[in-house]
Amino acid sequence: MAASAYDLLDPGAMSDCSATRRILVLGATGSVGRQALEVAAAGGIPQLEVVGLAAGRQHEQVLASGRGLGNVPVMVADASAREAAMRSGYGGTIVASVADLIEQARPDLVLNAIVGAAGLEATLAALDRGIAVALANKESLVAGGPACLATAARTGAPILPVDSEHSALLQCMDGQPPDMVDTLVLTASGGPFFGRDRSSLAEVGVEEALDHPTWSMGGKITIDSATLFNKALEVIEASVLMGIDAGRIEVVVQRQSLVHALVRHLDGSLLAHLGWPDMRAPIAHALGWPHRRSVQTRRLDLANMPALRFEEVDHDAFPALRIGRAALAAGPAACCALNAANEVAVEAFLAGMIPFLAIADVVAATLEGEVEPLAMTTLDQVRVVDTAARHTARAQVERVASHA
Ligand code: NAD
Ligand code: MG
Repeated sequence: MAASAYDLLDPGAMSDCSATRRILVLGATGSVGRQALEVAAAGGIPQLEVVGLAAGRQHEQVLASGRGLGNVPVMVADASAREAAMRSGYGGTIVASVADLIEQARPDLVLNAIVGAAGLEATLAALDRGIAVALANKESLVAGGPACLATAARTGAPILPVDSEHSALLQCMDGQPPDMVDTLVLTASGGPFFGRDRSSLAEVGVEEALDHPTWSMGGKITIDSATLFNKALEVIEASVLMGIDAGRIEVVVQRQSLVHALVRHLDGSLLAHLGWPDMRAPIAHALGWPHRRSVQTRRLDLANMPALRFEEVDHDAFPALRIGRAALAAGPAACCALNAANEVAVEAFLAGMIPFLAIADVVAATLEGEVEPLAMTTLDQVRVVDTAARHTARAQVERVASHA
């Protein structure tokens, strides 16, 4: 197995920018998916042609996009939404799985912007067929990092990070192999509750937690940003992408989200990635890689920009990072269990069943329970651990809810 996804990247293999790149957009109705459609429509080199779309249940929205693209094949995951889509008189094919969508659309690259561990199957379906994956769905690497790496190593398909910090890391590596850099530095915005102490977070509501200061994103990742579980997932994601252990991955708060990540090199030099927070930049970087596309982002005015500030994470108020690092040290099964428990806990918080601080309690309690130490090299192994962890996490949610 390759030591990391980074080791598998071969810019030469994707250097032909004269050919149109055929792309699938999975999660096409979501925050990243919609911005990916914008990037593709804006033109540039290599030319991007969207040849298929996938969504969970928003069938009207995805079919409207599909019509705009000439009735491209569409996958709708939810069965009743798919039936409704089939009754709608859509002029193209409607399929039930990403594997079928790939067969129909024959893409060169799959952008995976599905939310949650549900995205892993799609990542593996593309990698298994040797198709490059532009990966926003970080849960793929957290739940099934070894499976993704093993599959990519077998077929040679590249995994290109879309997550802004990981895109920034890739850009700051300066072509060095991961064992020839000192540390990776991930920045965190700190979310809406940065600076507040633990006791003041006991009563925060869903609306406040959904009010992110710098990024506009889907609901699940916005809650993950408020708890800092997003950064815990991203430390694991960086470890899988770069093959670097948690001890060499730092996290620092950068409230303005102007610095997206840094790489500290062996000579002490820090290479940083700066820009206004705008997901279209990392999306374009992954879709066009290794070429840079023109993107109409707001440009940083260096002489007049705010002074850069970096701050430490308050681990008492936000225990997620510690929990994430412990899971990474425990192994891939614990990372998968962490992801599953977090998905259950976030859903319960959004449904008003548990308080904000209980999200971390549910995840920690799930990891303290029994997690079968499987290697996570196959989708079946991931499903075993994921299902068991969801079961434990639901029991924890009920315990918390019954004491409320
Ligand atoms: P979102 O909730 O806005 O969109 C999710 C999309 O996934 C929707 O189109 C939904 O229909 C689709 N979906 C859900 N289940 C599906 C399934 N089983 N099959 C096919 N499609 C399905 O989420 P988002 O904010 O766009 O985030 C998507 C992913 O990108 C997440 O993994 C997130 O962590 C990651 N990410 C997002 C951002 C951001 O700025 N939003 C930044 C970095 C990483
Ligand atoms: Mg990120």
